[in-house]
Amino acid sequence: MSVVTRIAPSPTGFMHIGTARTALFSWLFAKHHGGKFLLRIEDTDRARYSEDAVQAIKDGMTWLGLDWGGDAPSQFDARDRHAEVAKQLVEMGKAYYCYCSPEELETMREEARASGAKVNYDRRWRERDASEAPEGVAPVIRIKAPLEGRTAIEDAVQGRVEKGNDELDDFILLRSDGTPTYMLSVVVDDHDSGVTHIIRGDDHLNNVFRQKIILDAMGWDIPVYAHIPLILGPDGTKLSKRHGAQGVHEYEDMGYLPEAMRNYLLRLGWSHGDDEIISTEQAIEWFNLDHIGKSASRFDFDKLNNLNAHYIKTASNAHLVELITPIMEKYGAHIDDTSKDRLLKGMDALKDRAKSLNDIAEEGAFYAKQPPFVFTEKAEKSLDKEILGFIAEKVDALTELTEENVQDLCKEVANDHKEGKLGKVAMPLRAALTGTTVSPSIFEAAAILGKDEVLKRLKYV
Ligand code: GLU
Repeated sequence: MSVVTRIAPSPTGFMHIGTARTALFSWLFAKHHGGKFLLRIEDTDRARYSEDAVQAIKDGMTWLGLDWGGDAPSQFDARDRHAEVAKQLVEMGKAYYCYCSPEELETMREEARASGAKVNYDRRWRERDASEAPEGVAPVIRIKAPLEGRTAIEDAVQGRVEKGNDELDDFILLRSDGTPTYMLSVVVDDHDSGVTHIIRGDDHLNNVFRQKIILDAMGWDIPVYAHIPLILGPDGTKLSKRHGAQGVHEYEDMGYLPEAMRNYLLRLGWSHGDDEIISTEQAIEWFNLDHIGKSASRFDFDKLNNLNAHYIKTASNAHLVELITPIMEKYGAHIDDTSKDRLLKGMDALKDRAKSLNDIAEEGAFYAKQPPFVFTEKAEKSLDKEILGFIAEKVDALTELTEENVQDLCKEVANDHKEGKLGKVAMPLRAALTGTTVSPSIFEAAAILGKDEVLKRLKYV
C-alpha cells in the first residue's frame, strides 16, 4: 500500500502554527514512506471564503518547504460528488430523507433535554416511507447510524478510542438546500483521493466516530488516524494571541528560518531520543507515528530562538545575504554589489551574534547604508569629534586597512589621549561608521568597509 497523507485546512485568513505542525508531520510521514502528501482546501464555509486566505495557506506551506502533490483542490468544487454519495447511501438503505420542520426539531430538542436523552433527533423518518412526506418540504438526508454497540477506532497516537452508539444520532449528510455537511465531505474527499493516513489535531477526535459510520456504510477502507495533541501556550493554556504569534507568516516576518521552524515544530510533539537538532533529511529518515507524544506540548520561544540561532550559524553566508536583502530595505539599506561584498565578508561575525535574520539585517545595515545616515541617540552622544579626527589622520596614513592595523591605531590614539582606554576610541569609531552603538568588532568592520569608505564616513561626522 502506498502512503497518502493530506492536510485539509479551512481558509481562515492565515496559516496557523498548529496547521503547520500537522502539515509537517503529514509531509514527513509521506516522505518517509515514499508516498504522497496532498493539500486540500476545506472551503465549504463560503461566508468566510477568500482567495487571499487560500493563498496565505499556500504561501505558508511554500515558505516552510512543504511541497504537496497536485494542485490544491477545493472541497466546495466537489460538492456534487458529495451529494451523489449521500443519495447513493439512500439507495443502499443506509441513509434516508428526513422531512422534519425546524419547529419539530426544536420541540424534539426541548423534549430530549427535559428527559435527559443523549441524542436529540428521535429518528422519526428512519423507517417512514417517502410517500408520507409532507408537501413542499425540502428534506435533509440523514445517515442510519448503528443503534447498538460501540463505534471504535485504533488511533495511532491515542490508542483505542470508542463511543457508545447511543450517543451518536442519525446526523445530517446533506442539508435541505442540497449542500453537503463537513462530516460527509471530509470522508468522501479523503476516500476519493486515496488518503491512507490522517494526521490531524485531536480537536477532531470527536468527529472520527461519525466519519467511521459513513465509511462503514459505504464499505470503504478505514484510514489510519493519528490525532495529535494540541499546542499549548508556555503557561499551559490553549495557544492564543496573547501568547504571541500564531500565524506562520508572523514567524517569517520575525526572521525565523524555515529549517529552524521545521525542526522546532517537529520536536513539538514528536521525539527521537534526546535529539534536539534534527535536520529535515534525518527527520524524513526517522519520522514515525509511534513517537508522537500523547500529551499536549507547550510552545517554548527560547527553544525556537536557540534553534534559529543554530540554523543561522550553519547557513552559508551567501544564502544569508540573499535572505536579508529584502529585510534590509526596512532598515533603509539597499544592497548593491559593493554592500553585498561587504556583507559576505562581515557575515561570519554578524551571524555569530544573531538570533534571527532581522538581527543580522539590523546589525549589518551599516554595510549597505550611504553616509550621511541617521544616528541613534546613543551613537550621536558617542561621537567624540576630536578622537575621530586623530583616527582619521592615522587611517589616512595607511595604504590598506586590516583588522589588526585599525586596532593598533585605535590603541595608539587611546594611549595618547584616553589613558589607554580603548573603549573611548572604539565607541566613537563604531558610532561614526555604523550610526549605532551595537555592532560586531568595529576593527573588522572598518577593514571590510575599506580606507576610502572609512574616511568618507569620518568626514561626514
Ligand atoms: N478543516 C479542518 C481544519 O481546518 C481539518 C479537517 C480534517 O483534518 O479532517 O481543522
